[in-house]
Amino acid sequence: MAKTITLEIVTPDKMVLKEEVDYVGAPGINGEFGVLPNHIPFLSALGIGSLYYKLNGKKYFVFVAGGFAEVSPAKVTVLAEVAERAEDIDLERARRAQDRAEQRAKQQQEKLDHAAVQAALARALHRMKCRQTAVSEGTCRM
Ligand code: ATP
Repeated sequence: MAKTITLEIVTPDKMVLKEEVDYVGAPGINGEFGVLPNHIPFLSALGIGSLYYKLNGKKYFVFVAGGFAEVSPAKVTVLAEVAERAEDIDLERARRAQDRAEQRAKQQQEKLDHAAVQAALARALHRMKCRQTAVSEGTCRM
């Protein structure tokens, strides 16, 4: 029985990661799910948040938003709408996106797309949380 599982994360514009890992935890649309090597096949839509994988006792984090995960015994394939490794998250950019979304949410405009504003705010907050969690786990520099 294999002791590791391949994790591949791709978005429409880039290959984010391909690694042999010990465990994958992902933000499914109906809550987090975990995958060990030799898991039975399944397919799940992804929500927004931090996907993580364990490798040699350490936890590594990747921000994902939307898309699908396909699980087979030897591989987890994540087709995400957007994804960034924790170390590639630009905190300042996320803070600016948070500010913009909060300012827009305060505007009393009839045509304001509230769902889009809330989605942008959620992406910004989850990006910051993803990077901070990785820093506190010691797998990403400040
Ligand atoms: P922004 O308003 O800053 O563009 P956004 O949430 O609207 O944020 P997305 O549409 O989710 O951005 O992503 C567009 C592209 O920019 C994607 O390739 C995504 O990986 C990248 N990206 C967005 N925000 C960041 C960030 N804070 N750090 C690193 N990459 C980011």
